[in-house]
Amino acid sequence: MGKFKVVEKFVSINGEARCAGELACFIRFAGCNLNCSYCDTKWANEKNAPYEILSEEEIYGYIKDTNVKNVTLTGGEPLIQDNIKRLITMLSRDKSLRIEVETNGAVDLKEYYDIGDNVTFTVDYKLPKSGMEDKMCMDNFKNIQSTDTVKFVVSDYNDLLKTKEIIDRYELDKKTMVYISACFREIKNEDIVKFMIDNNMNSVRLQLQIHKYIWSPDKKGV
Ligand code: SF4
Repeated sequence: MGKFKVVEKFVSINGEARCAGELACFIRFAGCNLNCSYCDTKWANEKNAPYEILSEEEIYGYIKDTNVKNVTLTGGEPLIQDNIKRLITMLSRDKSLRIEVETNGAVDLKEYYDIGDNVTFTVDYKLPKSGMEDKMCMDNFKNIQSTDTVKFVVSDYNDLLKTKEIIDRYELDKKTMVYISACFREIKNEDIVKFMIDNNMNSVRLQLQIHKYIWSPDKKGV
């Protein structure tokens, strides 16, 4: 039986990507294999972060008790948990659930693509300002599936230029949904829109991280 380190579980609205604004049941796992400059969940990645150990059955039971159909597995980096594929596979057998895995782009997704069609991945591309760009697994962007989502969190103009370069190189906008969002307080949304207009970036969406507008940007459990 798998055991998972869970630092938070709660129901809120999905703040980003395809199901933004819909209710979602969040399971946040401890630990991350990256250390982004702008990380807003650093507390969850600390070695001494308080967590509970839950089995697959306990996680599934919690999700079912919430009666919410969107499930977001997040972190930290959820895919570095031991036995995570087994958990995702188990959850995917319940076809009433829609499972979204938020992953940081540094874990190869190949081995996950054969799980059920109610499982999707929201994959970050970590831009230069994050300090983690060299950790990206570029195969993820070559192999991106049409049901998945690619997300760029931009901090400055250089990040915007890199975003466009990566979208063009891998034709991401032709293959799947692509979102750009502003690193909170680092760049104005209007500057992103201007860049999109100037560069004729059709089929790319500006994403407002809506949970940060509803609650304090540092609030946990939302
Ligand atoms: S990948 Fe996410 S959780 Fe990990 S350090 Fe970066 S922002 Fe934080």
